[in-house]
Formats: sequence, C-alpha cells, structure tokens
Amino acid sequence: MTGGPGDGGAAARERLRTELFGWGQDRPIVDPGEVAALRGQLEAELAGLGDALHAAATSTGRQQLLVTKTRLDRLTCDGWALDPAPFEHTEANVRGTLAHKAIERHLDGGLEQVPEAAVVADAWRELAARSPGDPRSISAWLNACPKEAAQRLRTEVSGLLGTFRTVWPDLPRQLVQVRTEKRLDVTLADGTVRLQGTLDLLVDSRRVDDRARTLIVDFKTGVPRSDHDRAEVRFYALLAALATGRLPFRWATFYVAEGRPEIEDLHGPTLDATVRRVVDAVRQAARLTAVRAGAEPPRLRGGLWCRGCLRRDDCDEAERARQEHAARFTTG
Ligand code: SF4
Repeated sequence: MTGGPGDGGAAARERLRTELFGWGQDRPIVDPGEVAALRGQLEAELAGLGDALHAAATSTGRQQLLVTKTRLDRLTCDGWALDPAPFEHTEANVRGTLAHKAIERHLDGGLEQVPEAAVVADAWRELAARSPGDPRSISAWLNACPKEAAQRLRTEVSGLLGTFRTVWPDLPRQLVQVRTEKRLDVTLADGTVRLQGTLDLLVDSRRVDDRARTLIVDFKTGVPRSDHDRAEVRFYALLAALATGRLPFRWATFYVAEGRPEIEDLHGPTLDATVRRVVDAVRQAARLTAVRAGAEPPRLRGGLWCRGCLRRDDCDEAERARQEHAARFTTG
C-alpha cells in the first residue's frame, strides 16, 4: 500500500511530481495551427501515394489500412510484416497485462488502502472473465494456468504494484482529469488509413487555455528498450494530438519495476519523425501488395525480431543476422 508522508517513498513521489508531472512548472504555449500542420503533412504524404494506397486499402477487404504500434514495429522487415507469428500468451506477457490491469484499477478506483494482493486478484478475475470461451484469449490462458504458476504471477505482480504505489504521487483530481486505457482512433486519407492505439494513461489539466496541458504515460513492466519504447510513446503523442486537436506538453515511458520515467517534452520537430514513420508504414503496406503479387522482391532485415516471424526457420537473412550477432559477441 502507498506509504504515508515521511516514509521512504515520499522523496520518490516528490521527484516524480517534478520530473514526470512537471508540477508547478509553466506549460508551453502552443499554436493551434501546429496540429493542423501535422495532419496536413500526413494527408499530403498519403495523397502522394496515389493509386498504390487505394490498392493496398482494397486488398485488406475492409477498404482501410490500419496503423498501430505493432504495424510500425513490422516496418523493420517485409517478411515479418507479411508473415508475423500469431501472438501467444506466455508467462512474461501475461505478467505485463496483469500488471497494467492492476495499475489501471489502482488509478481508477481510489484503492490506496486495498492490499496489493487483493487488487491483483480482482485484476486477474476481470481478465479471466473477459472472453473465457475464446481459446486464444488471455482469459483462457489464466483459467488454465497451473496453481503454482498462478501464485507466482500474482506475487510478482503484487510486487510490481507495490513498487508503483511507493513512488506514484496522488494527483489532485480537482485539477486534473486522469484517464486510463484510453483508446484513440484517427482516420486519414478519406478513411483509407486508420491510426489506432490505446494509451495507458492520459493526464489532462482541467484548465483550458493556449497552453499544452496533456501528459501521456506508457507503462512498461518488461526489460527497457529505450529507443523502441520512445518510438511507441511518440506514436501515442501524435495520435492524441490528432484525436484531440491539442498537442501534449510531454510524453513518457514509465518503467514500473524501476519506478523511473523516461520523458520527452514537446518541442518543434519531435513528432515530424513519427509522421514519417506512419507514412512509411502505409508506404510499406502499399509495397507489400506488390510483393505479394510477385511484382517486387521483399526487403528483408534480420535481427532479434525474427523470433516473431513465421519465416524464421527457413530464412537466409535471419541466419545471416544470427551469425553476425554471434560474431559480435565472440569478438566483443
Ligand atoms: S525471419 Fe527475420 S529476416 Fe527473415 S523474413 Fe522474418 S523477420 Fe525478416
């Protein structure tokens, strides 16, 4: 449970108030035209793809290309984008989902005085009841989880929640609106492209003026992957800007196990790179239509991500990347 004033976490909470929430610091003044400019840049680049974009959207059967953080990851290799291995629940990713749910319940529910184990047990029950009939769902995985593994998972997630509560400051709800698991959708190019994402946490000031007053936080419970994690939260920042018409003043990845944020503040061109990634993802989707038809060779690039690709056992590029990786460690 969250400790009281003067406990060991008080300094950590105070630090987060300043470092992450920027409490008491001036927010940047923003030109409302900046979001319109980002959207205009996206629309112009997408319009430049012409018929290839429409062909790619038509090939989906939904007349629409979806861009998510997962799709952006798969920009790395055409083979991965074409043949991703189906998602499988594992103890590691279930731990992450359960921890997110427990933190969400804590933030939404005013559960400061409820023991961590009880919050986690409720989170488990909620996830287990979501779609138990679907054998690929997390519900099915949780319901089939052996007793010992279930106990281990709950203990680990209770520990994560405890760490989170120790460092996470109370937010004055009369001043800020806190929203968890906020799903955002933005359509572009006359509806042929949809950007979609679910933000772990949005903190909005209740004051509305000419300043940026939204903070976006993405929680991570696994091993930090700084560049990758930053790219993800930037996508969320762009999504939030396009969906709400207002730029966030800051976006951050919060590493729960370490109680540590990595933040990035709004400044001029930061989101331009994300605009280019989104356009690249759509361009890749358009190119993959030609690759599938055999009109273009795939562009392959091997790396750690190959383990998530169905081609991994029969791919020369993956083998080459494995050997290069091994040689680096041998000579390093
Ligand atoms: S195994 Fe790796 S290199 Fe080969 S297609 Fe898949 S992701 Fe690309």
